Amino acid sequence: MSREDMRGAEAQKEGGKAQLLSMTPQELGVFLKELGQPAFRAKQLFAWLHQGAAFDEMTNLPKALRERLEAECLANPVSVLETVRSKIDGTIKLLYRLPDGHVIEGVLMRYKYGNTLCLSTQVGCRMGCAFCASTLDGCARSLTPGEMLGQIVCANGVLRRGDQEGEASKVGNIVLMGSGEPLDNYDNVVKFLRILHTEGGLCIGMRSVSLSTCGLVPQMRRFAGEGLPVTLSLSLHAPSDEIRRRLMPVAKAYAMDEVLDACRYYIEKTGRHVIFEYALVHGVNAAPEHAAQLACRIRGMQCHVNLIPLNSVPERGLTGVTEREVEAFKKALEQRGISVTRRREMGDDIEGACGQLRRRYLQEDA
Ligand code: SAH
Repeated sequence: MSREDMRGAEAQKEGGKAQLLSMTPQELGVFLKELGQPAFRAKQLFAWLHQGAAFDEMTNLPKALRERLEAECLANPVSVLETVRSKIDGTIKLLYRLPDGHVIEGVLMRYKYGNTLCLSTQVGCRMGCAFCASTLDGCARSLTPGEMLGQIVCANGVLRRGDQEGEASKVGNIVLMGSGEPLDNYDNVVKFLRILHTEGGLCIGMRSVSLSTCGLVPQMRRFAGEGLPVTLSLSLHAPSDEIRRRLMPVAKAYAMDEVLDACRYYIEKTGRHVIFEYALVHGVNAAPEHAAQLACRIRGMQCHVNLIPLNSVPERGLTGVTEREVEAFKKALEQRGISVTRRREMGDDIEGACGQLRRRYLQEDA
């Protein structure tokens, strides 16, 4: 068990309350059996938890059981501290609180085709990418499966309260692109994904999930065999090992060839294509010759490149690029037959980027 996992386990015990959202229906069955309850209650409780009900709203459970659960368990370990709505595009930034007092954040993006929630998988991150605000204070701990599911349950609650559309307005797509490195919290993320598509719960299919990784090669290969065909996004951000190592410490552990091979393996095993995330950093990786180099490296792969204009991180002295530079880079890839789009910037007025709102909150609090 890593230090982060141990802290996570300690955090779960804090306050002595069990996190029911971390349990599969089978595990809930075992838990309820110990309380002398019949097997069918597990299904009822599982459904209520994922609908975001409080214990006293679970009307088909006996009152004595509801009171016991209230005293000993958490229905949702996550609560919403603050919501900030973008006036430009309806994006909602969410600040959440965990049972041990840690604060995490998420972004709810509202598209015509549905709602996408960006989830955090750890409190902070220990990967140390030069451009990323989430990693500036390191990783405090990994999140439990229930703390990941709880973010979705909270966001559904925000949608329910804010909308007149009722049923239509739920989180339909998940991107694991908030704080943290999902594959550095492997077991909890895999369990989260299994519970996510369990019947009677949130029922979000794997095709509606994207997992973004900085490229932990052994875990990527292992994940390919889990039978969870989510879209894999790889944070590539560079056309060469030399540039990648300047931006991402993880590139010192795994060469680009190894990472790209792991992507090929994922494509082969799951039949899904891979998305390469590429944040354009002024003066570092954004020149047309970098695009040409990148095209050479990924040619022939079933892949798509997503260009992200860097959200400047003044703490690290890195700045974004101009519109002209983005277009030139995009064109250089297109000319070489690479499928490419630029990521739409959502919630620009509400500190939509990773870790920014949380940092402001923590700084104000200090
Ligand atoms: N740890 C995972 C997921 C979290 S970050 C990963 O590395 O992929 C989600 C995406 O946002 C990653 O592609 C990350 O590289 C990118 N990102 C982080 N900080 C950014 C910034 N300041 N500007 C643009 N993209 C950024």
